[in-house]
Amino acid sequence: PIPVITIDGPSASGKGTVASIVAKKLGFHYLDSGALYRLVALAAFRQNVALDDEQSLANLAAKLDVVFDGGEIWLGKDKVTDEVRSEKCGNGASVVAALPEVRAALLARQRDFCQLPGLVADGRDMGSVVFPDAGTKIFLTASAEVRAERRFKQLKEKGVCAIFENILQDIQERDKRDSARSVAPLQKYADASLLDTTKLTIDEAVDVILKRFE
Ligand code: C5P
Repeated sequence: PIPVITIDGPSASGKGTVASIVAKKLGFHYLDSGALYRLVALAAFRQNVALDDEQSLANLAAKLDVVFDGGEIWLGKDKVTDEVRSEKCGNGASVVAALPEVRAALLARQRDFCQLPGLVADGRDMGSVVFPDAGTKIFLTASAEVRAERRFKQLKEKGVCAIFENILQDIQERDKRDSARSVAPLQKYADASLLDTTKLTIDEAVDVILKRFE
C-alpha cells in the first residue's frame, strides 16, 4: 500500500506548515485539502453563487479547474495563491464545507493525490473519511490563544494591520462552526494520535510526526 500520513486539526494550528515540511523531508506528495474548500468559496464569489446553494456549489466543486504547482495555486488562468489564504476565503470555506454534496464532490479529487512514493494530507477529515486506511494519523492542535498569537505574528510580518482580540474571536467562531456541523465535524477521532503543539516549535512538531511514522 501507498504510505499515507494524515494531519487533521483546527484552523491556524500550524498543520499546513508542519505537513508540507514533513512531505518535503520524506519526498512525499502533499494535499492541502483546506485549499480545495477555499477554492470552492473563491469560485462561488467570482461566479456569484450563493454560499447556501448546495447543488450549484457541488457542481462548482466537481468542475473546479485547479492546478497545484509547487507552492502556487492556479484557478483557471489566475494565480490565486494569496487570495485563497485570505480570511474571506477561509470563512467562506468553512461555510461551504458544511454541505455534504460539496464534500462528496471533492472526495475523488482528494484521493487522486494518493500516489507513490507517499502522501501527507492535511485537513479536518483526512484520517476519518478521505484516507481511513492511512498508516499514521495525527490530530494536531494548540490552544486557541497560541493559534491566534501565531496568526497575529504572521500577519504582522506581512505588514498587515490586525487586532489580536479579533483574530482570537475569529478562530473561536471557526472552531465552533467546524465542530458543530453534522458532516466531518472537527474532532480527534479514536485512531488518531494527539499532537499538542502549544509548547512545541515547528521543527519539534515535524520530528514527532516523523518518529510516529517510522
Ligand atoms: O485548513 P483551512 O483553514 O485552509 O480550512 C478552511 C476551512 O475548510 C476550514 O475552516 C474547514 O471548515 C474546511 N475544511 C474542511 N475539511 C477539510 C479541510 C478544510 O471542512 N479537510
